[in-house]
Order: sequence, then C-alpha cells, then structure tokens
Amino acid sequence: MTTILDGKSLSKRVIEEVALDVITYLEKGLRAPSLAVVMVGEDPASAVYVRNKIRACKNAKIDSHEYRLPAKSKEKELLDVIKFLNNDSDIDAILLQLPLPKHIKEANILREISPEKDVDGFHPLNTGNLFLGRDSIQPCTPRGIMMLFEAYDIPISGRNAVVIGRSNIVGKPVAHLLLQKDATVTICHSKTEGLKSIVKNADIVVSAVGKANFVKGSWIKEGATVIDVGMNEYDGGFVGDVDFEEASENAEFITPVPGGVGPMTIASLMLNTLSCYKRNLKNIKKQK
Ligand code: NAP
Repeated sequence: MTTILDGKSLSKRVIEEVALDVITYLEKGLRAPSLAVVMVGEDPASAVYVRNKIRACKNAKIDSHEYRLPAKSKEKELLDVIKFLNNDSDIDAILLQLPLPKHIKEANILREISPEKDVDGFHPLNTGNLFLGRDSIQPCTPRGIMMLFEAYDIPISGRNAVVIGRSNIVGKPVAHLLLQKDATVTICHSKTEGLKSIVKNADIVVSAVGKANFVKGSWIKEGATVIDVGMNEYDGGFVGDVDFEEASENAEFITPVPGGVGPMTIASLMLNTLSCYKRNLKNIKKQK
C-alpha cells in the first residue's frame, strides 16, 4: 500500500508547536521572534511564496517585516538593507527571497547576511558546517524533507538514495543530510548518463529538477520512497517532477505536489526563525 506523505498536516502541526513555544516567551514579557523578508523585483511566483511565508509567520506568532526593493535596485542598495538588518538587534532572522534580478550576484549578497540571522542556511559558514556534519542552520527545504522521513519513520540507513539535482539550496544539502543518516547517496544532474537505471536502483528518490513529469513512474522501484521537490506550473496549476499517478503504483511512500515538500519548507522556516530568535536572545543577555 502506498502512503502519501502529508506535508500539509505535518507543517500545520509544526507551526502550532512553534506558536506554543513562542507563547512561553511572550508570557515572560519578551518580544516575539522577528523575521525580515527581503524581496527584489516583482517576480509573481516569488510574491506568492513571500505571501505564504508571511501568513505562516502569523500562525506561528512570529513578527514578519517585509522589505521590497524595485527590480532595478543596485547591488549596493540591497547590501545596505542587509547591513541595516544585520545591525538591528530586534531582527532575529533574514530571508532573502530568490531568485534575484540577473544584475545582482546572489553569492555577493548571501555572504553578507549575518550567519546567525541566515534563516535559509545559505551563508558559506552555515553551508560549510552542514557539509562537515556540524551544528548549523539547515536550508529549509532539505530540513523539511528530513522531517517527513522522521515523522513517517522511513528508514534511511543503508538505503540507496538518489538525489536528482545539485543546486546549493536543495540537491547538495539534502544529499548531505541523507549521507549523515547513513544512506548511500548518488547525486545526479543534467550531465548524468543512464539516469533511468540509476533511479530504478534507488530505495529513496529525491527529485529537485524543475521539470514537469520528468521522472516516470516506471523508473520507480517497488517499495521506494519518492520525494518530489519540483514545483512546476502546468495547466494552470502546479505539478511536481514526478509522474505522481504512475509512481504511486510502485512507491511505498510518496509526496504529493502541492501539499508535500512545499509546506514543510515553510514549517522549517518557522523552526529556523525560532532558533535564530533563541540564539539572539542569549547573545543580547550576554552583552548586558
Ligand atoms: P535548479 O537550481 O534549477 O537546479 C535544477 C537541477 O536539476 C540542476 O542541478 C540540474 O543539473 C538538474 N537537471 C536539469 N535537467 C536535468 C536532467 N535532464 N537530468 C538530470 N538533472 C537535471 O533548481 P532548484 O532551485 O534546486 O529547484 C528544483 C525544483 O524544486 C524547482 O521546480 C523549484 O521550483 C522547486 N523547489 C521547490 C521548493 C519547495 O519548497 N517545494 C523549494 C525549492 C525549490 P545541472 O546542475 O547539471 O544544471
């Protein structure tokens, strides 16, 4: 029997738990955690993501602050906003909504976000710590995926895991998190040869490609776990990378799109913001 991994319900539960945790701080007379969301330009998909994140903040009792810059903003203008937020002790976490307009180099900005406020875990220091297996802020989507494995008690140790996609925000970090849980991990990308047969051998498939119905159901091994990260506009809605109907016939566990990884990304964002807040409170206390 196939189990559909219900990211929507799990995310709701996680966000409720974050809210309960925040309430304990509010009851002590402390301020709420605060997340600054910085967006450059008017990309419609990004606008929807930002709206969803801000809605989740309300449910988690986290204060959100939106900073919107015009698409033509210079790199320096964006850096000034980041520096301002880094220095504001009332801001615990900074989220830079990606992608940025092409004339701004993402890496130049990401490395300027204070590592302690880097709620997405994209700063080189956090990336390095993650890859070294040290305590770090984990990127939200990979963290959310790992929460699904845990919540559904899906075994990872010793399993063959295939990650399709090697982006810095999904593919590479999720591969490292699976490796830390003792999976044998293969990372595939656009130059990989024989993808179909590699996937056919996988106990765990994580697809982060960004192409609708790219992974065919017939590629999925009987009893495999399929995590579909893809969010692809299709026929007026969204579909994942995996042919869900066909893949469900073989998979033991599978995420739907929407309602799988997406909500878990948001739940992780709330957890990461809460961690940044707790660390910031400790730092402020030390300085007094
Ligand atoms: P990305 O940076 O565009 O990376 C896509 C990856 O797919 C690249 O590594 C690319 O290989 C690989 N790829 C492309 N064509 C391929 C092929 N024919 N065979 C094998 N690999 C191929 O994308 P991303 O940012 O990781 O996002 C991936 C998808 O996840 C997108 O649909 C995005 O919208 C979605 N996403 C969803 C969430 C969520 O919360 N649900 C969060 C983040 C992203 P090369 O490196 O060789 O080019």
